[in-house]
Amino acid sequence: MAEARAMVMTGPRSLEARRLPLPDVGPDEALLQVEACGICGTDYEQYHGAIYAPYPFVPGHEPVGRIVAIGERAAARWRVEVGARVAVEPAIPCLSCPLCLGGRYTLCMGRRPMSAYGFIPLSVPPGLWGGYASHMYLAPNSVLHRVPEHLPSELAVLFNPLGAGFRWAVDLPGLRAGDTVVVLGPGQRGLACVIAAREAGAGCIIVTGLAADEARLALALELGAHHTVNVEAEDPVEAVRRLTDGRGADVVVDVTAYAVEAVTQAIEMAARGGTVVLAGTKGRRPVPDFYSDRIIGKELTVKGALGVDYASYERALAVMASGRYPLQRLHSHTLPIEEADRALRLLAREVPGEEALHIALVP
Ligand SMILES: [Zn+2]
Ligand SMILES: [Zn+2]
Repeated sequence: MAEARAMVMTGPRSLEARRLPLPDVGPDEALLQVEACGICGTDYEQYHGAIYAPYPFVPGHEPVGRIVAIGERAAARWRVEVGARVAVEPAIPCLSCPLCLGGRYTLCMGRRPMSAYGFIPLSVPPGLWGGYASHMYLAPNSVLHRVPEHLPSELAVLFNPLGAGFRWAVDLPGLRAGDTVVVLGPGQRGLACVIAAREAGAGCIIVTGLAADEARLALALELGAHHTVNVEAEDPVEAVRRLTDGRGADVVVDVTAYAVEAVTQAIEMAARGGTVVLAGTKGRRPVPDFYSDRIIGKELTVKGALGVDYASYERALAVMASGRYPLQRLHSHTLPIEEADRALRLLAREVPGEEALHIALVP
C-alpha cells in the first residue's frame, strides 16, 4: 500500500516521523501532495501545549500543494483538477450552521471540538489531517484557492500570514485610504499587516517592536511603513501621539504574542472613534490596568480577530502574484518536515543565536 511520510505530534514538545497509509479518495474528497506548509504561533502553542492539540495528530494548517487524486463531485464543486496547485484554508466548515450560512464560516460551530486542518487526531480516518506530511487528505468541505505557478513553494505559503494582514489590518477595522494605522509587533503577521495597509492606501503606517526586532523594524520600513518605534527605548503611546500630532491612530492592530500590556497600549493609542483589532493571543492571561472607560470615552470599536476568510486570502494571493513586494524578504527558513521540532523552537526564539521570521516546512 502506498504511504505518506508524516510528522506526528504525540504530546507537548514531542514529534516523531511516521508512515501513514494513503487513503482512497471518494467522490467528494481529494488528496493533496504537499509542497510546503507554513508555521505560525498557533503551531508553537500546540507544541507547547498551550492550546487545543489532539495528540497524537499531524499538525500543519497552512499548506500549499498539488491535487494528486480527486473525486468527481469534489472536482466539480471546487473547480480544480488533478495537477491543480492550491492553498488550503485551515477551516473545514460544516456549511449548514447559522454562522456558516451567515457567511462567517471561519467561526463554524457545526462540529466539535474542532474541524480544522492541523487540529484533528490521527484516530479520525484517514489521519492525514495536517500539512507536516508528504500528503494531506482533503475533506468534502475544504476551502481551496488556486496558487500561481510562478511562486516558489516556500513563498506561496505566505498566503496565510498575508491573508491575515488583509483581514486584520484592512477588512475588520474598515481601514480607509489616508488612515493612520499602528501595528504592534513586527512578526510575520505584523509585516503582512504593513503590506495590506499599504495596499489599502493607509496614509501613515507605524510599527512597534522590541530592541531584538531591529531587523524586522527595518524590513517594515522597506515594505512601506512610515515610522517604527522601539518600545524598549520609547513609550509607544507617547511615540504614536508625537507621530500623529496628538490625535492617535484610526486603526491599531495588536499582533504581539503574550504581551498583555500591548492591549492597554492599543486602547491608549487609538484616536477618538478609532478601531482596535486584537489578534495576538496572550496565553490566557488577563490584561492588568485595563480600564473599559477608555473605550467608552473615545467610542472605540474593539474587535477580536481569529482567522482569515476567503476574500482576504484571495487578496493576499493576488498581491503575491503581482510581484509588487519582495516576499523573499519575509521568508527566513525552509526546513524539512523532519526538522519540525527545531522549526517550532526557532520560531519561538528558543534557539540561541538564530533568528527566524517565517518558516516553511517541506516534505
Ligand atoms: Zn497559522
Ligand atoms: Zn458551520
